[in-house]
Parts: sequence; structure tokens; C-alpha cells
Amino acid sequence: MKLTFIGTGYVGLVSGAVCADWGHDVVCLDIDEKKIDKVKKGVMPIYEEGLEELVNRVMKEGNFKPTTDYKMAVEHGEVIFICVGTPSNQAGAADLSYVFSAAESIGKYMPVNDYRVVVTKSTVPVGTHDRVRSSVLKGAGNKKVDFDVVSNPEFLREGTSIFDMNNTDRIVIGSSSKRALDIMQSLFEHLNTEIVRTDLASAELIKYAANAFLATKISFINEMSQICERTSADVKSVAQGMGLDTRIGMKFLNAGIGYGGSCFPKDVEALYRTSSEKMFDFRLLRGVMDANDRQKHYFLEKVWAKYGRNLTNMTFGVLGAAFKNDTDDTRKSVAIEVIKILRGAGANMKLFDPAAMENAKNDLGEDSLTYENNGEDVFNDVDGVFILTEWQEFANYEYPTVVKKMKSKVIFDGRNLLDPDQMKKLGIEYFGVGRNGH
Ligand code: NAD
Repeated sequence: MKLTFIGTGYVGLVSGAVCADWGHDVVCLDIDEKKIDKVKKGVMPIYEEGLEELVNRVMKEGNFKPTTDYKMAVEHGEVIFICVGTPSNQAGAADLSYVFSAAESIGKYMPVNDYRVVVTKSTVPVGTHDRVRSSVLKGAGNKKVDFDVVSNPEFLREGTSIFDMNNTDRIVIGSSSKRALDIMQSLFEHLNTEIVRTDLASAELIKYAANAFLATKISFINEMSQICERTSADVKSVAQGMGLDTRIGMKFLNAGIGYGGSCFPKDVEALYRTSSEKMFDFRLLRGVMDANDRQKHYFLEKVWAKYGRNLTNMTFGVLGAAFKNDTDDTRKSVAIEVIKILRGAGANMKLFDPAAMENAKNDLGEDSLTYENNGEDVFNDVDGVFILTEWQEFANYEYPTVVKKMKSKVIFDGRNLLDPDQMKKLGIEYFGVGRNGH
């Protein structure tokens, strides 16, 4: 099938490349010329395991064309996916201006009376489909256009997105048109996964419900970690004992310094806004957001308790800047927030992240920070080390050797990556999250 993806970011680029790999004829469009130039040269604008190889292969096979040419892109796609960003606006609601602008451009270039399916893959609040339809019609002006709108929210996770697209737990497609739903179903049938066919509003809401629920799980275990800290319990054991119950599940039960990233914070907030607009106070979500915000401060309390609030003349190693492991994405990263707070207290830092160094430099600059080429170097001659992102490689370092290089053997493990007992044996003063039992 001929497919077009509008917005060539984390979602559009990966989705487009994977669909090309499934044998479809794909065009990926972006208004960012630099991004498209890079992709054309086979260089990825984002870090994602296996993406460069995949894109280069499908491009060579002729199934995948990156472009900035809206006319060509819209004329090409029988199905046109909108994958542009929907960041939070100042009020905490989703900023839909990119979505409506893309929809208007689709209308502008949509061929006369030639049926198209316009799909919102971007995460948009319930009810947005009506405004997507109006924006397409606005762009079309007096032209007679024939199209249906579908909501097909995306559930991929950065870091494993190619795998996720090929092994998704479910596909959600919502529309009022059977014709559009049938076309969409045919795209995904080979995946052998559950396909939820529903109405537009439900499809839009499913994405928010899923993200808000996962964020709730994280905030729940983070709050549990506070009880563990005030008793002799260990949050890892508690999570394991809870999570082995199949009704609960192990995933998203890792206590830490809170959730971040380009999705959870904005989606939880946007769902809360939507509920307020509908005159419903979603109190549980208020608690989830509040707990998430507090969690990093509880972590920092350990730092203030040890050193006081003035960290001038101290140097710390920092492992992690990305909002999670296996990505270069630092949007709304709690690691970045913690680094800023430490810097505000006067600390100097040596930072390393396996993929997010460039984004970290853009976010943080050079003030009080040096950027190391390798993670083990952040231990050299420092007063302590902070682990702020759950990259597996941070757990695999030769700790008996690297800790010898520290001026003071102190580790603040904001992601519970290390084994407190092993750290104790190495003479490390170890601060995890909810791990007083050790
Ligand atoms: P992104 O910022 O990486 O990419 C968005 C792209 O859209 C950018 O390259 C931007 O230049 C382009 N763009 C903006 N306006 C445009 C326009 N009018 N026409 C064409 N291109 C335009 O964003 P992302 O992380 O890929 O997220 C996209 C959407 O998918 C968001 O709604 C997000 O919530 C949702 N989502 C993201 C993820 C994720 O893990 N990143 C997962 C599921 C859903």
C-alpha cells in the first residue's frame, strides 16, 4: 500500500521505516529540512537501536522516500499518518497546533475526489478528530475531497521501537467509517495481534488511559519506596513480590527518581486537563503527578542531609542524562532536572550518557559540567557518583576497580541499578531508593 507519514521524528521515522520493511511504499515527510537531509544521507537524526541499518536498507530497496515536498507526499499516500509532536502548552494541555497545521496541509494537497484515509498517530486529546477533519476541509478550500479520519494511537517505546512495532500487544484503530477501518486492519493483520476496532473518541482516549495508568504504577511504587525508606523493607523485594501476581505484573514497578520523557508527563497532564474541562476532577491523577514531582526531591534530601545545601568546591560524577535507557531523548528528563538542581547548589559534574551527550550539551551547556567519553571516567577523583538513568551498562562496570579512583566512595543510585550489598562490601556509602533493608 502507498503510505505517507507526516512528521519524521521518533514515531514517524520508525513507523515509516518499519512499514517499508513490511513491503509498503512509504514516503516520510518533515518540515525540518536538516532532518530530512540527514535521513536522505542515511544518517539518523535520533538514536534508536537498529534504525540506521533499517532505513538505509529500505531506502536502497526503493520502498522508503524522505521528503519535504508536501504535494508529493500527500498525493502519494492512500493512508496518511499524522505523526507530529503534541507537546504541553503553558496551561498543561496538549498543543495541537502542529497537528492542525499538518491536517490543513494534507487538505491543501489532497487530490480531488480521490479517497484518502487521514490517520492521527500523534497522541491527541479525546475529540480532536473533529478538528482534524475541519482542518483538512479548511486546507482543501473549495476543492471536493473524499476522506475519512482514523485514530491509530502509537504505543512504541523509544529504545525498543522497531521491536515494539513488530511485536505490539495490540493495535487500536478508531473511526466512524467501516471502509477506513477495513483498510487500516489490512495494514496490521499480518502481525497476528489483537486489533481493537472502536470509535474515534475511544481510540483517542485509550492512549491517554494507557500512559496515565503506567505513570500511576510508577508513582505507586515510588510512594511505596518512601514507606520502605521509613521501615526496614526493600522496595525491590516488595516490587517483585507484588509483580509476580499476574494481575499486577512486574513492569513499571521500578522505584527511582520519577518518570520523565516526552510522553508520560505531558500525557498525564493533558488527561487531567481534559477531565477538568469536562467538569471532572481526576484526583488520582493529581496524586500521580504530585508524587512524581516529589520523588526527585526525596532523593535529593539524601544529598542535602549528607553535605548540606552548598556543594561549592565539590565534584560529582553523573551517569545518565536521557529520560530512560537506550535512547538519546532528554525531553523532560528527570536526570537533566536533577543535574540542574545540583548545579544550582554549586556542584561541578563530570557527565556521561551512552547516547544522549549531544542533547545533554544542548540542554545544559558547559557551565560547571565536563562531558566524558566513557562512563568509567566519571569516577575519577570525585566526591561521589550519581546514577540518574537506567542504562544497563552502568551496572556492568568493574566496580571493584572504578571505585578505587574516587576521592570519596559515595554513590547515589537514583535508579536502583546496583546491588547495595556488593557496594557495602566495596566500602561504598550507597544511597538507593527505598533500599534501607540493606
Ligand atoms: P518528534 O518531535 O520526535 O517528531 C515530530 C516531528 O514532526 C518533528 O520532526 C517536526 O519537525 C515535525 N513537524 C512538526 N510540524 C510539522 C508539520 N506541520 N508538518 C510536517 N512535519 C511537522 O515527536 P515524536 O516523539 O515522534 O512524537 C510524535 C507524536 O507521537 C506525539 O504526539 C507523541 O506524544 C506521540 N508518541 C510518541 C512516542 C515516543 O516514544 N516518542 C510514543 C508514542 C506516541
